[in-house]
Amino acid sequence: MKQEYKLLTPGPLTTTATVKEAMLVDHCTWDDDYKRITQDIRAKLLEIAGASGQDYTSILMQGSGSFGVESVISSVLDSEDCLLILSNGAYGQRLGEIAAAHKLNFVLYEQAYNQQPDVHEVSDLLRVHPEISHIAMVHSETTTGMLNDLEPFAELCKEKDLYFIVDAMSSFGGIEIDVTGLDIDYLISSANKCLQGVPGFSFIIAKKSSLEVSRGKADTLSLDLHAQYDGMFDGKWRFTSPTHVVIAFEQALKEFEAEGGIPARHARYAGNMGILIENFKEIGLMSYLTEDNQGPFIATFHYPRDNFDFKDMYAFIKERGYAIYPGKLNNMDTFRIGVIGEIYPEDIKLLTAVMKEYFSK
Ligand SMILES: *Cc1c(COP(=O)(O)O)cnc(C)c1O
Repeated sequence: MKQEYKLLTPGPLTTTATVKEAMLVDHCTWDDDYKRITQDIRAKLLEIAGASGQDYTSILMQGSGSFGVESVISSVLDSEDCLLILSNGAYGQRLGEIAAAHKLNFVLYEQAYNQQPDVHEVSDLLRVHPEISHIAMVHSETTTGMLNDLEPFAELCKEKDLYFIVDAMSSFGGIEIDVTGLDIDYLISSANKCLQGVPGFSFIIAKKSSLEVSRGKADTLSLDLHAQYDGMFDGKWRFTSPTHVVIAFEQALKEFEAEGGIPARHARYAGNMGILIENFKEIGLMSYLTEDNQGPFIATFHYPRDNFDFKDMYAFIKERGYAIYPGKLNNMDTFRIGVIGEIYPEDIKLLTAVMKEYFSK
């Protein structure tokens, strides 16, 4: 057995032994039992989203989270449309990269990475660009740990009759998101974030009426969201599905429910985060975001000193059972700690002790 360590990363993350064990089965993809599992997963995801099956559907898509995001953007917009992207991190930038790759019309609104998008500035942009038809933004910006407030932009979309696309990759399942109330048209997340499955597919919570009016816009075959939706009507995936990942996700959803669903998971993550920020402050590690912007999933910390060797610290911590994450800021030396997955306050306390030991070397 290889050396094991827990992942203090934003996903893939540490899963339970039972989720991993669920993968020790080879499943046939056209088998009725397997199709039922897919259908159950789709129904449970809608439940977690608090969305009715009347108005919304959930669609599973092979690949990592970005495949799900690209599937939506490349399937529901065409040259008649224009996407306004709100970016305050690398995942917001990726939305722009996707739109560019598909040669779509888009406007990129860039905010500083430590600040929320400004609704007044965004309103002004809508005035300057009346061609904008869709707004896309990231909920939990994993680059920094910023939890973006969706509500002001959801309101703008309602007011201006725009479609609203939300990358909720690292937040869905870990915090309440009022999909129906915010009138989100497409929400994207993946198996390996707060729902604590293993990587291999993403999923889209989509408003059915919006899906219907965007038919015919897809510009790829494999990522065609409408074709995937149509093909999945009886639980059969269009192309080979990641069977082991699907079975593991079924188990992960059972454990999510047993824990107490979103409220319990949110409480555990938020508890972890509170302890992390406080403990780190005590040992002189300052977080990059202000408290009001900090989400409960991942946090960014400044290097404690200029000549700090992240790789050396990483190796020291890994030997003691934890993997941490490098920073993703271009202009500043930082590192990140994720608190999602099978991570508990004891882990954060242990990590703090290891860091203390490292700094006193
Ligand atoms: C994880 C994540 C993604 C998807 O990244 P992949 O590497 O494709 O899994 C997208 N957006 C956010 C905010 C994420 O945290």
